[in-house]
Amino acid sequence: MKIIILNESKTPDLLNKVERRCAITPASAQRLVKKGVSLALETGAGLHSGYSDKEYEEVGAGVINDVNASLSSADMLIAVNRPTDEQLSLMKKGAVVIGHLDPFFQQSLIESIAQRELTAISVEMIPRSSRAQKMDALSSQASLAGYVMVMQAANLLPSILPMMMTPSGTIKPAKVFVIGAGVAGLQAIATAKRLGANVLAYDTRPVVAEQVESLGGKFLKIDIGETGQTKDGYAKELTDEQKAKQQEAQRDAIADSDIVITTAQLFGRRPPVLIAKETLSLMKPGSVVVDMAATSGGNVEGSEAGKTVEINGVKVIGNGYWSQYVAKAATDMYANNIYNLIEEFFDEESQSFRLDLEDDILAGCVITHQGQVTNSMLLNAYKGA
Ligand code: NAD
Repeated sequence: MKIIILNESKTPDLLNKVERRCAITPASAQRLVKKGVSLALETGAGLHSGYSDKEYEEVGAGVINDVNASLSSADMLIAVNRPTDEQLSLMKKGAVVIGHLDPFFQQSLIESIAQRELTAISVEMIPRSSRAQKMDALSSQASLAGYVMVMQAANLLPSILPMMMTPSGTIKPAKVFVIGAGVAGLQAIATAKRLGANVLAYDTRPVVAEQVESLGGKFLKIDIGETGQTKDGYAKELTDEQKAKQQEAQRDAIADSDIVITTAQLFGRRPPVLIAKETLSLMKPGSVVVDMAATSGGNVEGSEAGKTVEINGVKVIGNGYWSQYVAKAATDMYANNIYNLIEEFFDEESQSFRLDLEDDILAGCVITHQGQVTNSMLLNAYKGA
């Protein structure tokens, strides 16, 4: 089986920034090569994550200059993001393409992958099950995002996070409010606690209150009536009345915070707006807000994708692509996720990736196969579009 890895720093991301992550580390490359896989990496693929071409070559991977010349013979193309249309057009029918394909918002790309008779695996669609945890790239990257958001906010705050008692006086701990306590939110809570902040958190799924408290945070109780979650553990969308109640109830907590971090997402949909501009104006000057969702629509009114903007004296960070700020850790985790996915379905005897669509993991994340878009959630979303 021949696998190609792209140097994605050559194709700017949506914000025209350089993608710093790579889909394979020398360690995961070594494990794949040991299985008999033939690996070809585009030169410089690991550089931004701290891995030189030489390190990949030393474990038996090939380093190539002209990736396009190799694509037609590849059985699999692994990316962190989406390959370009040109790259896809060079691949042979039946080859497998893996990456963050953003399928709910990339309908035409996914349909063109199907038309090219390529099999697409979207890492966002890997089920949230115990068995799939080791392949769950959404979670690995979200955990790092939680950490990065706290570090970026701490850097901009004109104060410190921990309490400091010195002969020169006592500094009170910073107040951090985290809205949305999923994977990223919980990691943000843990990071802010480790740095000594007082942490308050809120999520529409009441089941997470216990998790917040076990990390040392306080859970803000808001009665907005029936909320709940989907069978996969994702939040359900709130009604307009519930949204208004939530915003009202959060107002005081936001006004009282030094740092607010919003991480609320709705799977397959635009994220909810949680903080209006007028609420921002209640915060103290110098406070910092981090909008994790800024690149996909935003939780905070006025946040800008890829930028830090100042609104009424409050700094609003909307950088996005958070895990890229810790590209080595992000690459290490993503490469493990990908290795685990391949290993789970690799057939030693035939030296091929077993596309068993009856398996619940592949049934979820294989989104195009044999000329068709195969995922029913996507088909429904595309019909409604
Ligand atoms: P997500 O990124 O979809 O959303 C982030 C958080 O925002 C969620 O906790 C959600 O409830 C919350 N949210 C949505 N709307 C909100 C609003 N209006 N106000 C406040 N909060 C709001 O979620 P995620 O981090 O991907 O996690 C989703 C679920 O999957 C969680 O239950 C998580 O524990 C679970 N999970 C399970 C596994 C596994 O079992 N293998 C792995 C990862 C995650």
